[in-house]
Amino acid sequence: MTTAGPKRILVAEDEVKLVRVLEDYLANAGYRPHWIDDGLKVVPWVRQEAPDLILLDLMLPGRDGFDICRDIRSASRVPIIMVTARVEEIDRLLGLELGADDYICKPCSPREVVARVKAVLRRTAPETAPSDESPLELDVRSYRVRTGERQVELTTVEFHLFHTLYREPGRIFSREQLMDRIYADRRIVSDRTIDSHIKKLRKKLAELLPAEELIHSVYGAGYRYELQLKDPG
Ligand code: CA
Repeated sequence: MTTAGPKRILVAEDEVKLVRVLEDYLANAGYRPHWIDDGLKVVPWVRQEAPDLILLDLMLPGRDGFDICRDIRSASRVPIIMVTARVEEIDRLLGLELGADDYICKPCSPREVVARVKAVLRRTAPETAPSDESPLELDVRSYRVRTGERQVELTTVEFHLFHTLYREPGRIFSREQLMDRIYADRRIVSDRTIDSHIKKLRKKLAELLPAEELIHSVYGAGYRYELQLKDPG
């Protein structure tokens, strides 16, 4: 799941014909589409699977796209393209400041959709590209993290934890996902175990970069890595 395979696109749409065409076009463009037609299933799936982009129909059975978009945005910055059947809806959507990255109006050509997907992924990529602005160096063999002259030594668990988050900046990992990655033998560990390792990890990283916040808690969702200046307040 962490490998740089094809980008996963969630198609949240209840028009089966449209979905079939979109799936074909997206797959041909090198993406891996996943289809959900039930509005209630979108958010749980996104939390669990962390797709690379979401095509979100405004009118879905179970739960509408406004609601879904807000919910996703409260915990994730995954690119979202809203798809609506009515042009006049777009103004309303823009006014609501849902945080979507783009809007497409139906009927839409699959070619157009793929072009927009590409454009949005390109536009949002720099923020999630690993390491290009990171001042950190991770030594996988000694479990050390360095920056300039300074370095800290991490425990095995701390290192794996940090490495997992660090490799995918901006991506939110749930505690469960982190446990899965870190404890290969899947022995019983609680959410609290992860929290306490994160706490220690943060302390060590603060010795390296005191002005920077590296590991962010996302309420109700988990943790993500991102280099950000600490809020002085
Ligand atoms: Ca619909």
